[in-house]
Amino acid sequence: MEACQAVEAEIEKLLAKYNKFGPKWQYQLQRFISTLERYKREIDSNSGEIDKCAISSTILQMKLAVKDISNEHRRWHSDVSRIGKTIDKNFVADYTEASNKKVFKTDQEKELLNKIICMHLFRDSKWEVAEEFLKETGISVDDEQKQRYLNLNHIVDSLKRQDPTPAFEWVQQNKAQLDAKKSDLEFKLHQIVFLDILSRDQYEAVVYARAHFNRFVEKHGDIQSTMGMILFPPNLAKMRSDVIDLFIKDSCLGDDDLLSVCVNVGCSALPALLDIKQAICRDVGGVWNENDELPIKIDTGFAYHSVFACPILRTRCGSSNPPMMLVCGHVISKDALNKLERSGRLKCPYCPKEQLPSEARQIHF
Ligand SMILES: [Zn+2]
Repeated sequence: MEACQAVEAEIEKLLAKYNKFGPKWQYQLQRFISTLERYKREIDSNSGEIDKCAISSTILQMKLAVKDISNEHRRWHSDVSRIGKTIDKNFVADYTEASNKKVFKTDQEKELLNKIICMHLFRDSKWEVAEEFLKETGISVDDEQKQRYLNLNHIVDSLKRQDPTPAFEWVQQNKAQLDAKKSDLEFKLHQIVFLDILSRDQYEAVVYARAHFNRFVEKHGDIQSTMGMILFPPNLAKMRSDVIDLFIKDSCLGDDDLLSVCVNVGCSALPALLDIKQAICRDVGGVWNENDELPIKIDTGFAYHSVFACPILRTRCGSSNPPMMLVCGHVISKDALNKLERSGRLKCPYCPKEQLPSEARQIHF
């Protein structure tokens, strides 16, 4: 933000200067042009005496004015290039230090990245681009997953075209999954159909409500407000877009867009990473590139992994020191387990159960 403000201040300075001189110059140049045009017309028409003296004095005036303008223009050029320097100074263009070069080193990792990009394109209905991308990268993707995105996007398109039939079919096929998460989707779909019919025929809408809403007894409050819409019609376009959003959410169409997640996490983490690079890593560049962990805690708003802290050593477990479950069911870190081992045997620090360290099993979150 400070960087933007610094650049903005420079631009405002330049604009203020332009507003002071610009219109004046434009007016002056315009006046010269019309004078010249007038002389040209006089010469062309050959009418009367031409005042050569006046012409040469005007040309002299013009030459002087143009020289002034051109000098000022040169000074402006340096002002404009100063803005470029301010941008360079305030915005870091080189983000390579904040990236981990090892991440996409192997072909397998590159393929994974390409698959994620491809899935993003499929998810976003960019079919032609995705197919071209597949051809160029030479990777192949799971047909089943491709088909899934195709179906889900077809349903979204149908909902936009006011055709809820494919959405109802999908709801029937995925009823168990939707019931488990107490989804409102089916009710909301019926509500939209009811409102669509209502805009044509009130009686028919009530018949539809009788036929379909009786299955949603637990939503009697919602049914009441829906019936109230007969008298107070709602914003149907807004409700339709809400239903589409609900479908995208409940069908997990929005959840598994890994590319968006990566970009969003990266954007929110980058300023903090660049700050820490400037603050502590200036002389030891690339210090965190060697590890698979960030040097500071960054709250990106996304949290996918459960974290286990060892109750004995009070440290966070990671791939080099994973959590281990003992035979008794208590979980401690591998480092703690090694520390507690006495002559090939281990006594749980929480219950007195004795066991062999080799009996402990690694836990994956
Ligand atoms: Zn125990």
